[in-house]
Formats: sequence, C-alpha cells, structure tokens
Amino acid sequence: MKVELISVGTELLLGNIVNTNAAYLAEKCAQLGLACYYQSVVGDNEERLCNAIEEGLKRSDILILSGGLGPTKDDITKECAAKVWQLPLEKDQFWALKIREYFSSRGRQIPENNWKQAEVPRGAIVVTNDNGTAPGLIMSKEGKHILLLPGPPLELIPMFEEKMVPFLESLQPGIIYSQTVKLCGIGESEAETRVLDLITSQTNPTIAPYAKTGEVHFRLTAKAESREEAVRLLQPLLECLKERFGDKIYTTTGEQTLEENVISLLKERQMTLGLAESCTGGLLSGRITSVPGASSVFTTGLVTYANEAKEVLLGVKQETLKTEGAVSAKTAEEMVQGLCQRYGVSAAISITGIAGPGGGTPEKKVGLVYIGCQVRDRIVVKEYHFSGNRKKIRESTVTAALVLLRNCLVTLQP
Ligand code: ATP
Repeated sequence: MKVELISVGTELLLGNIVNTNAAYLAEKCAQLGLACYYQSVVGDNEERLCNAIEEGLKRSDILILSGGLGPTKDDITKECAAKVWQLPLEKDQFWALKIREYFSSRGRQIPENNWKQAEVPRGAIVVTNDNGTAPGLIMSKEGKHILLLPGPPLELIPMFEEKMVPFLESLQPGIIYSQTVKLCGIGESEAETRVLDLITSQTNPTIAPYAKTGEVHFRLTAKAESREEAVRLLQPLLECLKERFGDKIYTTTGEQTLEENVISLLKERQMTLGLAESCTGGLLSGRITSVPGASSVFTTGLVTYANEAKEVLLGVKQETLKTEGAVSAKTAEEMVQGLCQRYGVSAAISITGIAGPGGGTPEKKVGLVYIGCQVRDRIVVKEYHFSGNRKKIRESTVTAALVLLRNCLVTLQP
C-alpha cells in the first residue's frame, strides 16, 4: 500500500521548526512495509491544504497528516479533510467529556475555542490522545484512509505507536516484521559491497543499508502470516550477515546503541572507564552518561583543553607538548596513560585534535584527530582525518572513539 505524509504548519515552511514528525513517520511507515513516495509540507492555508489532500488521494492509499488539530482558528487540518470528502463536522460526545475532564482535573476553565476539538468529521474514528486535548482521527472512504495526528511530537509519537500502528497493520494481510542489525568499524560502501548479492536478489525478506555517523545499519524486513514465521524467515539472512561481518556487528535486534554496547562490554569484563577529551569538550562523556546505569563503569571524565590542563591533570610531559604538539600521537598516548595511572581506571580513552574551522596548519590540517585507547596494559593510538564542519568532525570523533574502545574490548575476552 502507498502512504503519503503531509505535515501542516507555517512554522515548518518558514524553517522555524525542524520537521522531525515527518522523519519519524517515514521511518515507521517503512518498517510497516508501506511505500512512501511523497511527502509535503503545507502552511495553515485552507485552499493549499485541500489541494494537497486531493492530490495525495489521487496517488496514495493512505494519507497521514500531522499538525493543525489545535483549538485556534488557524488549525484547519480536520476541517480541510472533512471538506475534501464533503463530510459535516459533528460534536463527539465522548471527546467533549474528555475535554471537560482534562481541564477540570487541572482546575482550569475550558476556553471556549477548545470545544472545536470535540468536533469530528461524520463517521471518523476518534483516536484518544493521552497527552493533550486534540484527538487523532481516522477517516476512511472507498478504500482510502486519512489519518490525522496532532503536531507536538510528545502527543504524536505515543498516539501513532499505540493506536495508529495497529490500524495500519490491520489494513494489510499478514504482518511486516523488521529487525535492525547494527555494525561499526566499517565504511558504508564496503559494507554495502559485501552484501550487494543479497540486495540484488532480495524478495522476502528484504535488506536495506543505512549509514549513520561512523556506523552502518541494515534493516531486514520480512512479510509473513505471523511474527514467528517472519522471525524464522529472517534467520538465514541474519546468519549470513554474522558470517560476513563477524564482530563488526554489535547488535542484531537494533535495540542497543553503540554507547550501550560499550558499557555492557565493560560491565561483562568488570572494568572501569575514564575519558580525557580535548577537541570534543565532553561530548563523549555526554554520550556515555546518556546511558542509564553508566555509573557502574564510568568514573572519570576530564576536559583537558589547554596544554596546562593536560600537564597538570594527566601528567603529559612539557617536552612532548613542545616537540610533538598537543595534537599528536604521543600526547594522546600520555593522556591515556595518565588517566589510567592517576585515576585508577582499567579502560581509558583520550582525544586530541583540530575541530576547526581555525587552528589547522599545512602539516596538521583541520580534521586531524588522535585517539588513544588503553584497555588494561594495552595502549593503541590511532590517527584520523575527518572531514566536514566543526560539528561533524566532533561527532565523527566521538563515534570513532567508541568504535576504537569497542574493538579493544572485544579482542579481550571477559
Ligand atoms: P496544538 O494542539 O498544540 O495546537 P496542533 O496539532 O495544532 O497542536 P501545531 O499547532 O501544528 O499542532 O504544532 C504544535 C507544535 O508541535 C509546534 O509548535 C511544534 O513545536 C510541534 N510540531 C508541529 N509539527 C511538527 C513537525 N512536523 N515536526 C516537529 N514538531 C512539530
């Protein structure tokens, strides 16, 4: 089935907000096996929105509209959908009661314009919103469906997951099951080349590669009568990927992030982690501490930006800084050694580099980064040349550091 996304809101058109809803919905639809060929953004304008809905209905089976379900006059999504299908708006008693409860539980008067949110196109299914006053709506006519979702992601995401996904699944015979296999320490084109034969011969299950900063993900999708059957269909493909990529795969269920994987490897090995960052200024510590329970392994994170900080806090030799420079393999090595010796950690990462835009020289260009990694007594220092702007270089550095640490840990059995 073909699905089309229409995001409603003038703020989206003006670039005031980023259309994260479309990215989220597109990814979910792909996972559900729905083909999404068109996406559009329309401002709060009746004529243009009705046009977009009419056009969308000509080429797709399902339209998913987000935003514009609020109580104000410029919220017109529901009105436009009703107009295109020539349906009257009627008061929904259940949702009127919900609105009453919502405001009285907060001890607030109901603003007059909020009653507008209890009006629904005749015959539409009202989808409850547990996080706001705008209900979602499902409208169906002659085999076509229009789904309306509120704009705020905190309302849209739970409503879509809990209420709309079951509806979309019910439209298709059988089920679509997806699983994401995540790899690190391998480039996108190399990964893709190694599975080219699988991609060209795919029917069911299918395999689709996605590149993330420093990572490659493969989404495997199977269509089957039941979930068990789909899992069984995916099994040979999973085995094949394991054979081809070995320990470059860090998860086959897609649920783990790279930082979670690193933390669980450290836990298995009963190790503690210390980080010393220069050009990433704490970004790596941020990623590590975003994982709940990181405190069981992560003890120390230092931002040693200035040379003096590298000397005083990590014991990097003045001589090294003078002869080799702060951005050098030797400095990265002494930083990581200092961390382990002074802070008693059994695993450590050090980062020193030039994130730009200034600071580069012909010998040491912007994007040059050294990452040191010590796991027990073994020290590895690697040189990287990243491209892109400051943000990209810093993000690439953080992911590379996680990949390097992971590589050093997997070679050390628990
Ligand atoms: P409300 O009841 O809050 O008025 P609504 O359904 O009318 O909700 P909008 O008014 O279009 O939705 O958007 C409300 C807020 O939701 C926006 O200010 C923005 O913060 C967020 N939002 C809307 N659309 C998107 C989108 N496509 N991507 C990300 N955020 C969005």
